[in-house]
Amino acid sequence: MLKGKGALITGSLGGIGWAIAQALAQKGCNVMLNGFGDAQLVDQQVKTLTDIGVDAGYHGADLSAPDQIADMVDTTERRFGSIDIVVNNAVTRHYAHIEDVPVEKWDYALAVNLSAPFHIIRRPIAAMKRRQWGRYINIASNYGLAGTTRRADYCSTKHGLVGLTKVVALEGLPHFITCNAICPGATLTPNMHKLLAERKAATGDSDEDNIRNYLAGRQPSRRFIEPHRIGALAAFLCSDDAADITGTPITIDGGWIANS
Ligand code: NAD
Repeated sequence: MLKGKGALITGSLGGIGWAIAQALAQKGCNVMLNGFGDAQLVDQQVKTLTDIGVDAGYHGADLSAPDQIADMVDTTERRFGSIDIVVNNAVTRHYAHIEDVPVEKWDYALAVNLSAPFHIIRRPIAAMKRRQWGRYINIASNYGLAGTTRRADYCSTKHGLVGLTKVVALEGLPHFITCNAICPGATLTPNMHKLLAERKAATGDSDEDNIRNYLAGRQPSRRFIEPHRIGALAAFLCSDDAADITGTPITIDGGWIANS
């Protein structure tokens, strides 16, 4: 049922976006990748997808630039014939107490984490309405539902993304277009490896203690979310069986929000 659908996934050269790209390609979707990365990585990821047997491409749009977003959406539509699935996954983060967040970092986070999804959602929606089918998935976070310290940009934009999800879901209802937010907890991605390495350097914990202590007080399951499980959830949300799931922030967080 997803065979031949055109999917645009932002920030998808690695981490969660890449897991979603593979999951959708395995269901037969053609996939446009996006995100910062060198030519070798781009070639490798595109080849991995085309080896699955789908069409795949890459657009290097900087999501803080609306004109580049417009070009990415139009290029994807031309290449695949349609954009049927959009996954807003890219993110920028700046960890600091609010008085230490530079204004330009705040503006950049608004642009990449919230305005980019707005631009990417609104451009192909008229065509989705004509086709009477569409799937939007916004990758939010447990921090789209709860607050924490030192993440003003992240929490604010993720909460905003959950709000945007609800509006798009309601507007899409008459046209069989769904829009949901996936809210992961701590997930083992390159960004998390970096965070763990910084924590280890600061605390001197062993690898095992470092992971245990990081997850303690956060994720009750005491284990990281595997990116491929988020990929599987995204693929399910694109399926016909998920046609009535819309406007929902769906946690995949090892009990984090249940415990907060
Ligand atoms: P990541 O940091 O590994 O990847 C983010 C991607 O966004 C990268 O590919 C980067 O190139 C891209 N990006 C950043 N700025 C961009 C810009 N201006 N233009 C184009 N691309 C840009 O992310 P991840 O850890 O895999 O997380 C993916 C999503 O999941 C994010 O939305 C994140 O908030 C969410 N999430 C992650 C976790 C986690 O523990 N990793 C937890 C909750 C939510």
